[in-house]
Amino acid sequence: MADQKYKTTRQKPEYVYLDQLNAACKTYIVRVVVAEKGRDTLSSKKTVRFQTLLLKDEKGNRMRGTLFGDQIEAFEEALQYLGEYDISAAPIKFIEEKWRTELDQFPYQMAFGSRTMIQPVHPELGPIMPNYQPIASIPRTVDPDEKYDIVGVVLYVEEEPRKIEARDGKRESFVREIVVTDESCDQPLTISLWNDLTAPKFFEKLPNWAEAFQVIGFRALKPYTRRGFSMNSGMSTRIIYKPEGDRARELSDWANLFHQKILDRQTRVLEVKYPGENKKIVSIAELRRKKPSNTIQEELLWIEVTIQNAELEKVHAYTGCSNCWKRTNLPLQKHYSCTSCYKKECICTERTTFKFEASDGTGTMAFTNFNDDTERLFRRSAAETYAIKEADDHNAFEAIQDMLRSKPFYIKVGPTSHLGQNNVLEWNLKGIGT
Ligand SMILES: [Zn+2]
Repeated sequence: MADQKYKTTRQKPEYVYLDQLNAACKTYIVRVVVAEKGRDTLSSKKTVRFQTLLLKDEKGNRMRGTLFGDQIEAFEEALQYLGEYDISAAPIKFIEEKWRTELDQFPYQMAFGSRTMIQPVHPELGPIMPNYQPIASIPRTVDPDEKYDIVGVVLYVEEEPRKIEARDGKRESFVREIVVTDESCDQPLTISLWNDLTAPKFFEKLPNWAEAFQVIGFRALKPYTRRGFSMNSGMSTRIIYKPEGDRARELSDWANLFHQKILDRQTRVLEVKYPGENKKIVSIAELRRKKPSNTIQEELLWIEVTIQNAELEKVHAYTGCSNCWKRTNLPLQKHYSCTSCYKKECICTERTTFKFEASDGTGTMAFTNFNDDTERLFRRSAAETYAIKEADDHNAFEAIQDMLRSKPFYIKVGPTSHLGQNNVLEWNLKGIGT
């Protein structure tokens, strides 16, 4: 039966892989998955609407496909994100070098014409629905290609897009955060939406986020574990304002039942997002009583402490990069190009770290100090401390010891990234104040 469809074409198409296609190919058939489906985008001159697809075959070859203008709506159902299709009679076009992007494995892309045939491989499965997962079930070891769908109760929405400074001359980016929670995880999840997704049209449907505890869905988010655990938007990400299905319904029910719990989580998030003028000072005992369930990743607290036994043996002095602090064996003041941070104009500089036990009336806690904080704590330049350590000058260190023992100072502390990753609460030194 399937053969009859092709009787109008002169040749019967044969299955090929994407790496066999070029602009001369007319009668072919490829079996591909829509691995990415970009958002409806306006060209930089704002004259053309387009939508980019990334097609993948079973050998892992990938090819860009582009829909223009009204095709975006016309092909909405026919080419779904993560759908698998047999595609034939789609024109293959050469891409000039200057237009190629990181999506392009070959210098060709697929266009879609009126004669293009698109046949779902699994029509019996119907439309492809989001596969919403509990936040706690998303793997913390990250595969850069993996994307996940989640639903969450909205706790916070960043009011305006924030500009992210361009590094090494690259284009600047914009980001806007939405913080959500669900029943699976004490830690609220920060979702960073990038660039086009920071536009007002994506946020207009969340006007009452602070009161309403709205349940919304996200498709195709990428995990990010550099600072705890958060998720980033990607090419295929969509915000779904009225999520459907069992998982979304369960979460709505939970949100109605556990209103107070969500309110508490929101309060903690808002305290971090809108910090007061004053330091939030706690005792070491209070800090030790905190639990993962009532602490969030970005939380910052202060303790007021002294160091009863500062030891010169716990001062570590070394020489390292003036930019990234990476250790080097070059002579002091030597200019060099650092292989660790890739900066060309680095100077070999004195660096110090210091391990100590802080105490207040309620308990003790161990910390490690780095560079600038050691300078602030000792009220000595890194070069001075380096010299004291090199000379093993216990007399000079005694003045520092006395000061640390007698004059209380503030330490700013925050949870290590283990909190977001593993729900394990440990405190890190984030800064020294006076
Ligand atoms: Zn460096």
